[in-house]
Amino acid sequence: HERTLTLKRYPVRKNETLQAWDAADEYLINHTQEMALDPQRPILIMNDSFGALSCWFTHKGCVTSVTDSFIARQGCLANLDANQLPHVNIVDCLAELPENPQLVLIKLPKNNRLLTWQLQQLCNLLPEDCTVIGAAKAKDIHTSTLKLFEKHLGETKTSLAVKKARLIFCRPKPVMAKPLPAPQQWEVPEHELTITNHANVFSSDSLDIGARLLLEHIPQNDKYRDIIDLGCGNGVIGLKAARLNPHASVTCVDESYMAVASCQANAKLNLHAPDQLTAKVTNCLDGLEHDSADLILCNPPFHQQTAITDHIAWQMFCDSKQVLRAKGQLIVIGNRHLGYDGKLRRLFGNVSVIAQNNKFVVYRSGK
Ligand code: SAM
Repeated sequence: HERTLTLKRYPVRKNETLQAWDAADEYLINHTQEMALDPQRPILIMNDSFGALSCWFTHKGCVTSVTDSFIARQGCLANLDANQLPHVNIVDCLAELPENPQLVLIKLPKNNRLLTWQLQQLCNLLPEDCTVIGAAKAKDIHTSTLKLFEKHLGETKTSLAVKKARLIFCRPKPVMAKPLPAPQQWEVPEHELTITNHANVFSSDSLDIGARLLLEHIPQNDKYRDIIDLGCGNGVIGLKAARLNPHASVTCVDESYMAVASCQANAKLNLHAPDQLTAKVTNCLDGLEHDSADLILCNPPFHQQTAITDHIAWQMFCDSKQVLRAKGQLIVIGNRHLGYDGKLRRLFGNVSVIAQNNKFVVYRSGK
């Protein structure tokens, strides 16, 4: 190629072993190399991991990158800066998209509900002459994935595999456009909660079994002034904490824009004073003041995009230690085999088990 990019994952870690791009990105770049593009018409890039595609296509036209991930957004900005490229327009998945795009590159998200939402969104937007190319590892493209493209966007074909990646070619058919579906909503009757979920929210079709156990063990204390739900998803844990501690302010934090939007909607649906709860998009507790919380509740993630990893949980615990006030407490739920107790003991010097069942353990560490 005539160009070389230097790309890093985000946040940058010492001794990183994982790449910030994959074979599907390379395939997309190679495939579109000869394509004649109109510099005036938008190019949409959906679900770019750390900005590899956005960095590559900045030279080709006016790029809008669509992502549900704050981390992907920050990674993209850092990589654009590192390669001295102009910033592209980065929007979240609920935002209105630019009209009349000529090319859409869509990295398949892990979650088929998000894919379905995005295909429906595209069908409402795209002109017939727009080229749509999906990309993923070949093992992640199933007949059912292709059926989603056929059902929600238009006629679909696939490429041969190259370096274990494949492309999906779809011809948009605007007459198939339908109104976008409403977010999923369900009840948690035992806690009198109604929970609404945008497409990419963790466990969006039912209450997570870990969250179910944690809900039973949220403390109540008149002295709490500030509570955090870290990795809040739809905010079910933060909502229960707000109900139990009506005098405390609750901050719910997630790196997913759809999670934060759902959490805000759920505060309105479930709290007498919705202002008691604030929802915020960030990475772990970046931007939260040190020594500012009495209680942090956390059901940590165990993967970043497609990589299985416990570094986010570790970062969440380290951040919690800084953000907790003296005598503040961190309560964590985790799958038994994840062994969070070792990490918590190393960091806080103490850990106790406050509940468990055959799969999950609820731990508490104090500052
Ligand atoms: N609290 C919710 C529940 O119990 O149903 C969701 C828990 S889910 C296991 C973990 C959540 O952490 C997800 O909503 C995910 O989007 C969020 N998350 C992942 N990485 C994050 C990060 N770096 N910073 C903040 N939140 C993150």
